[in-house]
Amino acid sequence: MVKAMGIDVGSTTVKVVVIDKNKKILFKHIENTKPRIKEQVKEVIGKVKERFKGEDIPIISTGYGRKLVEEAKKSMTEITCHAKGIYYALNTTGTLIDIGGQDSKVIVVEKYGRVLDFTMNDKCSAGTGRFLENTAARMDIPVEKIGEIALKSEKEVKISSTCTVFAESEIISLLAYGEEIGSILKGLHRGLITRIVGMINSVAFTPPLMLSGGVAKNRAIKEMLEEETGYSIKMPEHPQLIGAYGAAIISLEQNI
Ligand code: ADP
Repeated sequence: MVKAMGIDVGSTTVKVVVIDKNKKILFKHIENTKPRIKEQVKEVIGKVKERFKGEDIPIISTGYGRKLVEEAKKSMTEITCHAKGIYYALNTTGTLIDIGGQDSKVIVVEKYGRVLDFTMNDKCSAGTGRFLENTAARMDIPVEKIGEIALKSEKEVKISSTCTVFAESEIISLLAYGEEIGSILKGLHRGLITRIVGMINSVAFTPPLMLSGGVAKNRAIKEMLEEETGYSIKMPEHPQLIGAYGAAIISLEQNI
């Protein structure tokens, strides 16, 4: 049976997807990126090959560490792979917002997952998952819970620092002055969303809005983005796997 594998080596997580010829996901895996990426990738791919013993599954790599995947027949940019992945995951054109651990991107996606326009931020952590993660760690709250806590809060504190490092000290000071965790977290989410909206406004935006990346699993991001933009947002079933899924689809399409 024809199969294809996509591997997305992100700065925060490594994602692997194996699909069949109908683009159905047969296997998926996510793990945190380790310092020795080449060795980690070898190990992960080895496990997948063990699972599909005796089958020759072509691999396309993507993500910031894509060039470190020696087993890949080809590597493609995250923009190309995300556009392809979201088009087939949601079956629509539109504008994809991808928020990862250390970068964020907004991609206008055409038919068949072609890229019409895009913008990417990998210079400033304030528009990425890291912005929330640092604070969650500082507050000793699992990152999976911060969205719910933010949404429950009626109050919202404005975080005026636009840099993650400075925002962290601002938050420590807010906590020291007795500000509630919920309202601080809501303000923090607002800060990230304001930056993402700025990116949406800088591309040739076409609806619907779609969301991917690990941060898409945070419910507050979706809800607050909908509130801020006035558009409802479509979410794929596996938002964090969209890049790897797109890489696998390209591998199928190009018959590499
Ligand atoms: P990258 O591709 O850049 O490595 P990912 O798309 O895998 O990044 O996203 C990683 C980010 O997603 C991290 O900042 C992490 O905190 C966040 N994240 C992952 N799962 C969740 C979750 N359940 N709730 C909130 N944030 C999450």
